[in-house]
Amino acid sequence: MIAKVKNMINAHILGVEKMGTAKYCIVGGGPAGLSMARSLKARGIPFDVIERHKDVGGIWDMENPGSPMYASAHFISSKYLSNYADFPMPEEYPDYPSNQQILAYHRSFAKEFGLYEHIQFQTAVKSITQSGEKWEVTLSTGEKRIYEGVICASGITWSPNRPKLEGEENFKGKIIHSVSYKDSESFKDKRVLVVGAGNSGCDIACDAAFASQKAFISVRRGYHFIPKHILGQPADVFGDGAHWIPNWFSQLILGFVLRILVGDLRKVGLPKPDHKLFETHPIINDQLIHYLRHGDIIAKPDIQKLEENEVVFKDGTREKIDLIVLATGYHWAIPYMDTKYFEWKNGRPELYLTLFNRKYKNLFALGYMETDGGAYKMFDEMANLIASYIDAKRKQDPSSQKFDQLIEKDFPLLNGGIKYLNTGRHSVYVNQVAYKQYRSKVQKKMGWPEIKSGQFQRSKIGSV
Ligand SMILES: Cc1cc2nc3c(=O)[nH]c(=O)nc-3n(C[C@H](O)[C@H](O)[C@H](O)COP(=O)(O)OP(=O)(O)OC[C@H]3O[C@@H](n4cnc5c(N)ncnc54)[C@H](O)[C@@H]3O)c2cc1C
Repeated sequence: MIAKVKNMINAHILGVEKMGTAKYCIVGGGPAGLSMARSLKARGIPFDVIERHKDVGGIWDMENPGSPMYASAHFISSKYLSNYADFPMPEEYPDYPSNQQILAYHRSFAKEFGLYEHIQFQTAVKSITQSGEKWEVTLSTGEKRIYEGVICASGITWSPNRPKLEGEENFKGKIIHSVSYKDSESFKDKRVLVVGAGNSGCDIACDAAFASQKAFISVRRGYHFIPKHILGQPADVFGDGAHWIPNWFSQLILGFVLRILVGDLRKVGLPKPDHKLFETHPIINDQLIHYLRHGDIIAKPDIQKLEENEVVFKDGTREKIDLIVLATGYHWAIPYMDTKYFEWKNGRPELYLTLFNRKYKNLFALGYMETDGGAYKMFDEMANLIASYIDAKRKQDPSSQKFDQLIEKDFPLLNGGIKYLNTGRHSVYVNQVAYKQYRSKVQKKMGWPEIKSGQFQRSKIGSV
């Protein structure tokens, strides 16, 4: 017992020595990590960012090993509603920038706000364990550091979901997960089958439409396809002016308008959607329908089994296929932390407002949610909320205790009345408007300020 107490005291002293000031650790220098870093810096809260790759940008850097990015990827939210506060995307960018442009945007963001000097590159976080009230972070260099708190911002697309297909052991063709698809060169002279019609699956099928010998897409359920532009405006800009309209009404009206604009997709072999508009993550793509209507992509149902050279589908049809691309998504993971630290439900961490660990008040996650619009404005607002809470804790402001109560007991529904499909993916899916309204209400109650235009100007966010 005495030895245990001694150890604890030693660990504490060591921790204090190593800590110097009470520093926070941000894991990952992708979009979420950068937004978090700027927020902490703006408040003078000391932090380090640990990034395993050689530069910032997260998945947008195709050279980042394991990135799901591919050469033809473009943003699916428009540049007008996808920028960080006080840092609009360059005027010369198109409505839907390319992946290279998004990467360049993040690099200039990090430069503009002096974030590079806080980032330790080419260093991975190997493990994070509790050390008294703090966290011990073990780095790939072998170094161990004690941090006051940790913000996990390491992304959700690093662990591919690779289903096993019946009969794949006999299949002579090649099967890859979309994470390893980089460009359409690999499709040359091949009969390609893309499995899954998420946003990436649709993009990849469109690449196959012109680059392969023959392209197919296998879909399990029907989706609503939202064109990238509506009446000449980017779809999200078009919808942005209508937030005052209740969601059930937009579902009805926009659903009707889309049926008229896009037409009945059963004619091109896609199943009728089994859910209302917005009840799944929207597919923002008009190219796929173009190619389906030109016969450059053939829609197929779910796969039943693979044979030597053929794929047999559930409707009994079969096709000779050389390459199968599984666009079947990702498992979410925080692999450097034991599962006991986060409560995982349906493969998603259960967090207050998708950010705050309910048990450990100095453990946060940013970027572990999906939503129906551009993520970066949300990242900024979420990072601002985390920073406000940390700030209040540091100053021992009573608001932090009030907020602690919410972290433990508040379980708001953030779906804006939309019944998302009961899938793992949608268990932490939030409606952007509902989320913003709720977050703002809570923040106001705490007396914590919203982000104000101009607050992140370079001259105002000193050094820490
Ligand atoms: C094809 C595609 C299109 C998309 N389009 C849009 C869009 O139009 N609009 C939109 O808002 N969002 C879009 N997204 C969502 C996208 O996920 C976000 O834009 C964003 O990249 C997520 O940022 P993040 O920082 O959470 O994660 P990531 O981009 O994954 O960054 C995480 C970082 O953490 C690092 N890291 C991971 N583990 C460790 C570790 N153990 N130690 C140290 N570092 C680590 C990684 O190297 C990486 O740099 C798209 C996603 C894809 C795949």
